[in-house]
Amino acid sequence: MTSAAPKPEFILLLEEVNKSFEGFKAISNLTFYMDVGELRVIIGPNGAGKSTMLDLITGRTKPDSGKIEFGRDTDLTKLSEPKITQLGIGRKFQTPAVYIDHTVFENIWLSLEGSRSVWTTLFSRVTPERRDCIYEILKTVSLADKADTKAGALSHGQKQWLEIGMLLAQNPKLLLVDEPAAGMTDEETRKTGELLLSLEGKHSIVVIEHDMTFVRQIARKVTVLHQGTVLCEGRVDEVQNDERVREVYLGRKKKN
Ligand code: ADP
Ligand code: MG
Repeated sequence: MTSAAPKPEFILLLEEVNKSFEGFKAISNLTFYMDVGELRVIIGPNGAGKSTMLDLITGRTKPDSGKIEFGRDTDLTKLSEPKITQLGIGRKFQTPAVYIDHTVFENIWLSLEGSRSVWTTLFSRVTPERRDCIYEILKTVSLADKADTKAGALSHGQKQWLEIGMLLAQNPKLLLVDEPAAGMTDEETRKTGELLLSLEGKHSIVVIEHDMTFVRQIARKVTVLHQGTVLCEGRVDEVQNDERVREVYLGRKKKN
């Protein structure tokens, strides 16, 4: 018996997606596929539609047309933002959103408990299993030695890692990270790269980034977005040498 070649297992599929804001086409015939376990970097000039693409995946905005699917058969265009989060799509925005008056440990704990209220969680006893789990996450994001520090006292970079830890506590299948290195020192940026690489394979991850040193550090496959659509895709050296990408980034005029 002959069998057909297995279909690649997509975690995310966008086909011919369009989105306009008051006549302005922010996303234009966008087609994008990502495999399970992939770490994908998306780059592109300001206004290219990168954040809007994440808004469309997470249900924050709805497309005017096109397909957006999670896994084999979940149509994300029909679902609300909270429902999409529940399915296992976690998003990290550019500015960290942590509970500044609570400790680093408590921040992870609160995320782990999810639907329980802050009050109920913090006035309950943390079980040894929970504690282990929290420390496991804190180690992953290099904050174990800051467990008892108030989140508000962390550096900008550490707050970003804490928020990544809070997302990990929800064990997302797909993690969307928007410009994690923005505002970080070089050393923090490098450590963020290591953190994301350490998550590769365990989670599928989309990272949007501007910092090319950082992109070179973490990049496997890079997608270049321009005017709401994919300009090119490939290894980091391939896209950096692509004439169209150079035109977009260096603002050179097209000859034709
Ligand atoms: P990027 O993240 O690549 O810098 P964005 O996705 O934020 O780009 O924005 C793409 C374009 O869409 C920009 O011109 C932006 O002004 C516009 N845009 C994004 N979201 C909205 C919105 N909610 N309403 C109106 N315009 C928007
Ligand atoms: Mg953006």
